[in-house]
Amino acid sequence: MSHLIQTPYTVPVFDLMHRPGEMREKSLDVVVPEGFGNAVIGVRTGSALHIDTRLESLHDGILVSGRVDATAEGECVRCLIDVALPIEVEFQELFAYSFDEAFDYTVHDDYVDLEPVVRDAVVLSLPFQPVCQEDCLGLCPQCGVRLLDNPGHEHEAPVDPRWAALAGLDGLNDDTESDKTEKR
Ligand SMILES: [Zn+2]
Ligand SMILES: [Zn+2]
Repeated sequence: MSHLIQTPYTVPVFDLMHRPGEMREKSLDVVVPEGFGNAVIGVRTGSALHIDTRLESLHDGILVSGRVDATAEGECVRCLIDVALPIEVEFQELFAYSFDEAFDYTVHDDYVDLEPVVRDAVVLSLPFQPVCQEDCLGLCPQCGVRLLDNPGHEHEAPVDPRWAALAGLDGLNDDTESDKTEKR
């Protein structure tokens, strides 16, 4: 079996192995070696990520309970400014001593590797539609300025979409009128 490559996410557990009932806490400060996230927001490479864990020795393996604090960065989907969202997410996984279909993870060379667990927990907690603030007004559809930065912003030409809709209806009415005229 190949040896585990140690990363900032790997935690030695040899002192807990096969000693059911033993427990220990461990905190990790990770400089994220490889960023991850969804299409619109994610944890950037080189950013700081903090993990508090409690490691418990069970008969089958090591149960790891933890909490991740990270910052996800991306763009507001409405106004496109950069946003940084604090992420707090909890996880719990059993790292089995031997390969077992019931568990996704195993203890490897006396270490547990928290990277996939932490990544999955964080990615699942990320918004698919991040916004800079809940009431973000987005961008002006005519000139693209950010409306929150420009209170009362408006144009000479009709800017209200309802006006645009009415203008369209006028066109339809004209057609209807001309149809009627032809029939007469
Ligand atoms: Zn926004
Ligand atoms: Zn405008």
